[in-house]
Amino acid sequence: MIERTAGGYFREQTAKFKRQLNDIKTNKEYSSLLKEIEETDHKIARIEEDILNEMIAADDIEKEIKSALKKQGEEEGKLKIERDRALAEQRDVEKKKSFLEKDRSALLPRIPPEQLSIYQRIAKKTAGVALSPVTDDFCSICQLRIRPQILDDLWAMNEIITCEACGRILYHRKPPEEAEPAGPIDDPNRKDDSSPAE
Ligand SMILES: [Zn+2]
Repeated sequence: MIERTAGGYFREQTAKFKRQLNDIKTNKEYSSLLKEIEETDHKIARIEEDILNEMIAADDIEKEIKSALKKQGEEEGKLKIERDRALAEQRDVEKKKSFLEKDRSALLPRIPPEQLSIYQRIAKKTAGVALSPVTDDFCSICQLRIRPQILDDLWAMNEIITCEACGRILYHRKPPEEAEPAGPIDDPNRKDDSSPAE
């Protein structure tokens, strides 16, 4: 805006000089006035160029703002999708959890109290991971090799056997080819009436 005003000012100056040309008496006055007119015209040209450059710059800035806003909109859209996905996952996990809790409370009364108290004591010490499957003769959690005598006791399944190193309750895990397909406990979408009575 300042440049525009300055440009106007110089243009008025030039007009004034040109009017003065008519009143000139000597050649010297004439040429000095012409020189002033020329200089003023140069100033005007420079100012107009500056204005043009600033307009171009302003245009570029506007384009940058528009593209930044567009990017922001896209990012927000992506974030919303991520958030929705995480929420859906959370709902899914909560649903599974409630099924598992139901299963757990159905199973608890079927466990002899003394065994349950052993389990609970070990669970307290092991951050809730009281059981360790034995695979290839090793405790799968602490990797201790289980002695053959203990393995025999474990396969006999007459008593609770704990790992000598980590203290967890050991159990025999069938290799994958022997394992049964995922039971109802793993399926959160099961219907309660789907399992036949035994
Ligand atoms: Zn162990």
